[in-house]
Amino acid sequence: MRDVFREVCSIASWLVLYGYSFGFSVNNLSFFRLGSEKMSFFFCREKVFDYFCTQNCTIRHMAQLSNRLQRLAPSATLAMSQKSSEMKAQGIDVINMSVGEPDFNTPDHIKQAAKLAIDENYSRYSPVPGYPNLRQAIARKLERENQLHYQPSEILVSNGAKQSVTNTIMSLVNDGEEVIIPAPYWVSYPQMVKLAGGNPVIVEAGFEQNFKMTAEQLEAAITPKTRMLILCSPSNPTGSVYNKVELQSLAEVVLRHEDLFVLADEIYEHINYVGHHESIAQFPGMKERTIVVNGVSKAYAMTGWRIGYIAAPEWIVKGCNKLQGQYTSGPCSVSQMAALAAYVENQQCVEDMRQAFERRRDLIVKLAKDIPGLEVNVPEGAFYLFPKCSSFYGKTTPSGSTIGNSTDLAMYLLEEGHVATVGGDAFGDPECFRMSYATSDENIVEAMRRIKEVLGKLQ
Ligand code: PMP
Repeated sequence: MRDVFREVCSIASWLVLYGYSFGFSVNNLSFFRLGSEKMSFFFCREKVFDYFCTQNCTIRHMAQLSNRLQRLAPSATLAMSQKSSEMKAQGIDVINMSVGEPDFNTPDHIKQAAKLAIDENYSRYSPVPGYPNLRQAIARKLERENQLHYQPSEILVSNGAKQSVTNTIMSLVNDGEEVIIPAPYWVSYPQMVKLAGGNPVIVEAGFEQNFKMTAEQLEAAITPKTRMLILCSPSNPTGSVYNKVELQSLAEVVLRHEDLFVLADEIYEHINYVGHHESIAQFPGMKERTIVVNGVSKAYAMTGWRIGYIAAPEWIVKGCNKLQGQYTSGPCSVSQMAALAAYVENQQCVEDMRQAFERRRDLIVKLAKDIPGLEVNVPEGAFYLFPKCSSFYGKTTPSGSTIGNSTDLAMYLLEEGHVATVGGDAFGDPECFRMSYATSDENIVEAMRRIKEVLGKLQ
């Protein structure tokens, strides 16, 4: 298909240059005429030629990228964020609710630790799995907050939880093996599985079941090829949180199947509105089967510092260490010292931010419930609302186009209401869309006012 399109572009550009042309020149630009006797149009030859050249080059270069890369989809959340930045650059007042990061600054005592680390010349390669004192501090954190007992040798620090997830999948999943991912899911999981040569097996856990997979669904999805289950709690994009009973019933299924591992993404652990965070690793027999992923990005408002970790059986940590050693080496030395301060010093900052998110959660839920046509669940963690919006599908916008799916709806909200959100299609749930409420109360109030207004214009 790509080759055919390339040929068409190429022929078209030569036709334009040498074929049916009749025209004139103004200011060094030449114009040609295309059309029939009844109606014809003038085109600028240079502009058309540039366009076809660009298409030609883009397509030729795309075809040269590896097959591995061609299997990957670009990140929809980043694409929406970029579109909203472009509109902002044009002077349009866009409220960005598409991003997945706290709007707070990194707490001062953590920044101070990083400044000190620079002055103390933490400027050389660190050990590949991270500094021993940071791994020790993470082991203590797991003991203190999760009652999980890990040795530092069972911990590997990486460039953000994203690398921790990738390392784990790359280290455990073989070509053709299956990875069970409940939908809605974080956009990157299926892509990472595909990158590793595995097959993502999507299990639908929609709005009606509060976006949580049941033990029966898990059991039904397991085949002899299943290697891993990816569980994200609190969840991005839904904010759902698995409670202890639900986790126990999932753990019982996992333990019935040898060689099945759980990647437990707990990056939103501290942004939790139900009290204590529960990890699936806590149940007897599960620590040997679980790779806990966590990090400082969300809890300490440190997304840019790029520090995440896994806590897992030592043989898995060694595997990931081998991969990381060839890929990136140890993560940034200064960021590691900042993360150390985050884990060992006063934890009040985490609670302060959690309380702010909880207040905003209450605010956005109240405002969203007031919008006719939206169905709203009450998120128990993270900083996302994932309302059901399918009642708007098939409706017509004031400019006459039809809302066919959640991506169309997100685009309409951006273009008409100047609020950036992300369609649920990207997260494997076409009925909903995601709004991040990691933004000020004023922004939340204004964004929901705009959304209500423009949704009210759909007919
Ligand atoms: N897991 C989930 C569910 C996430 O939402 C994110 C960040 N958006 C990550 C992992 C990656 O976190 P980090 O920024 O530490 O790489």
